[in-house]
Amino acid sequence: MGAGDGRATSGRAGHPRRSSSTSAVQVAHLYRVDWAKPVRPMPSRKRGALALAMLARRTCPKCHVIYGYRLPASLGMSILCACPDGQRAA
Ligand SMILES: [Zn+2]
Repeated sequence: MGAGDGRATSGRAGHPRRSSSTSAVQVAHLYRVDWAKPVRPMPSRKRGALALAMLARRTCPKCHVIYGYRLPASLGMSILCACPDGQRAA
């Protein structure tokens, strides 16, 4: 019966090692869930900046009127401000 006692002792020694490794895996799993948050492809800040740039191109620096179209870069202002005489004629 002496050999049977030896086997039982070796089996007990291996048990606590297994439990410690399982706890480490659980901690790693918790971190995974925390970092698995969905990431938006385009942040709202970038969209706001783009909208502001488009708005600046449609806003006349002289009369501060926001038009529905992009102001001609050659004029640098709205057509009405560039040639007010043409507006009267029309
Ligand atoms: Zn203008």
